[in-house]
Amino acid sequence: MTSSHTTSKKYRARWIVPLCSPVVHDGVISIVEGRVAAVEPYQGQTDLIDLGDAAILPGLVNAHTHLEFSDLAAPIGTAGMSIADWLPEVVRARRLQQLTQDQRMAAILKGIDEVVRDGTALLGEIATKPWPYEAVAAQQSLASGSDLRIVGFCEVLGLSPGRSQEMLDWADTQIADGGNDRIEFGISPHAPYSVPPALLEACIDRARNHSIPLAIHLAESLEERRFIESGDGPLRETFESLGLPGLEQYPLAISIDQMIQRVATTPRGLLVHGNYLSADEIQSIASHRQRLSVVYCPRTHAFFDHAPHPVADLMAAGVRVALGTDSRASNPDLDLWNEVRHLLLNRQDLDPRDVVAMATLQGADALGQPNYGRLQPGSDGQLFVLRTAARTEASLWETLLDAQPTNLLGEL
Ligand SMILES: [Zn+2]
Repeated sequence: MTSSHTTSKKYRARWIVPLCSPVVHDGVISIVEGRVAAVEPYQGQTDLIDLGDAAILPGLVNAHTHLEFSDLAAPIGTAGMSIADWLPEVVRARRLQQLTQDQRMAAILKGIDEVVRDGTALLGEIATKPWPYEAVAAQQSLASGSDLRIVGFCEVLGLSPGRSQEMLDWADTQIADGGNDRIEFGISPHAPYSVPPALLEACIDRARNHSIPLAIHLAESLEERRFIESGDGPLRETFESLGLPGLEQYPLAISIDQMIQRVATTPRGLLVHGNYLSADEIQSIASHRQRLSVVYCPRTHAFFDHAPHPVADLMAAGVRVALGTDSRASNPDLDLWNEVRHLLLNRQDLDPRDVVAMATLQGADALGQPNYGRLQPGSDGQLFVLRTAARTEASLWETLLDAQPTNLLGEL
């Protein structure tokens, strides 16, 4: 991947995939000052770099990460375990590690290097207190000359008022600060099992008042649904064993469908996971499709051995679906193209064109970043390049799994 700030470059390739317009066969893309200036057919243009058997895509969009876990060499726990069993493992692992602030920051910066190396141009990051965004911004400029853009969702949670107020205050400070030219802030009420309705409303207020995006983990597991709806089950047992306060607030008086309706009052809501959405809830999301998106994390979904994800039903209902890696606590790496590959291998009911759109255009729109995830004049000029032998557009999509991501442009 590359960005060319002070230069103007033209690349020719057998395929250009703008996402927002039809695929161009034997095309030329011009990048000026880090932005796309033109996408057009090859017509004898000169002074260009010919990439030959390649497809040029926009830089990828990873709509959901927790970079603070980027120091992990392997996921926490074992594949196939339940969320109720996994959460205490995460708590235990982090207690054992006793990360200092410097180590925690190093993990976040390591994650930034990793996503940039893998071709990500735009990131939706769950930012937890304290999140060193000035250091992150400095690292962004160092990382491979990349212009990674981050939407940092300030995470808020806590079943006791003291804890949650402290987090809200921190989120308010970050939001008031407003970020910088590479980072902007949103807010993330963590999940219905860690965020009581009053706290969710406080986050919704902030999203509305500041016109910022809101991300919430929702309908991730059956245990979560049971705890919210009945107040019992494995998640309650886990929380009791961890000694969490505030469990008397469950079951909640508000349903998941009502939460969806409330999040739909914000300008931009990202419902992360959505592994166990009912048909009615999918319809609710679809009725607010301008404002709501679902973020699907395919390999994390597979790690927990969930029932098949309703991604096809969501898309059939017209819901925007973005892709995320989630964190290295439940995924071996942060490479978004590996999520695409996973879907091409395991969800052959999905059209590869839709899968690529989820990894680019849909993610950018979910995050409210219309200059990313597409190639058109004015959009971000960081490119994701695949080596492919495809000679027809049909075979480009049919053989997408064989296409090899390359950092060729970064070396030019
Ligand atoms: Zn997450």
